[in-house]
Amino acid sequence: MAGLVVVFDFDKTIIDCDSDNWVVEELGINNLFTQLLHTLPWNSLMDRMMTELHNRGKTIEDIEECLKKVPLHPSIASSIESAHAFGCDLRVVSDANVCFIETILKHHGILDCFSEINTNPSLIDEQGRLRILPYHDFNTSSHGCKICPPNMCKGLVMEKIRASVSADGKKQLVYVGDGAPDFCAGLKLEGGDVLMPRKDFPICDLISTNPLLTKAKIHEWSDWEELGANILSTVNRSFIRDESSSNVKTDQLVPVDCKYQNGSISATAHGALHLPVSPPH
Ligand SMILES: [Mg+2]
Ligand SMILES: [Zn+2]
Repeated sequence: MAGLVVVFDFDKTIIDCDSDNWVVEELGINNLFTQLLHTLPWNSLMDRMMTELHNRGKTIEDIEECLKKVPLHPSIASSIESAHAFGCDLRVVSDANVCFIETILKHHGILDCFSEINTNPSLIDEQGRLRILPYHDFNTSSHGCKICPPNMCKGLVMEKIRASVSADGKKQLVYVGDGAPDFCAGLKLEGGDVLMPRKDFPICDLISTNPLLTKAKIHEWSDWEELGANILSTVNRSFIRDESSSNVKTDQLVPVDCKYQNGSISATAHGALHLPVSPPH
């Protein structure tokens, strides 16, 4: 099923916390972080915090161990695995950084489900210090977006993704996120696309105060079971649509309600939706 591209924000979307805040709090530099918060752009501040950790004797391994403790709900992990197994193209667009995101996704065994992670680059310098750089070099030019931070406009990233996936035919895009920059990404969606905003987070306020701006269908979610069900029902609809134009038998689909229990799909009495139970081939 090559027609569906699902793009995830990372912080407060795939994981419940913000990975930057998690590291700063767990490694005991929250006071300095709060002190400098309004003096530097967030991305530059995180780079400054990594220098602070280095100066205090914390190694890259200490940071990785700390990241491995970030909780990730089993429902989001299993829906990511299922969507990947059905051939969906999964991507991340995040204002965190490569090191934090890859360490967490790898620890939970789902890094390989993603074809691309669009985020701020990170590197380890010759002193063994983690450096965090901006995705978009805002010192040389501005992206001009009023919604997003200077180092990354998620709308621009979405335009890049659509251009790269559209080369081999029309794709349906799904975007999942919680923040204001995720609203900017959502503005790049079209009529046939789906936006999945986290309920009661800033993205929902922006959608409701700008109701005419969002062209995509909107499926809100408030926990990872609901998000998993939303994703799998979208995968399922896309699967049916794709197969109706080819010859795959629909007996690969079983009627179940999109309800997650203990991380697995279970049927309920009023099964109106058709969810795939195992990957086609
Ligand atoms: Mg977020
Ligand atoms: Zn933007």
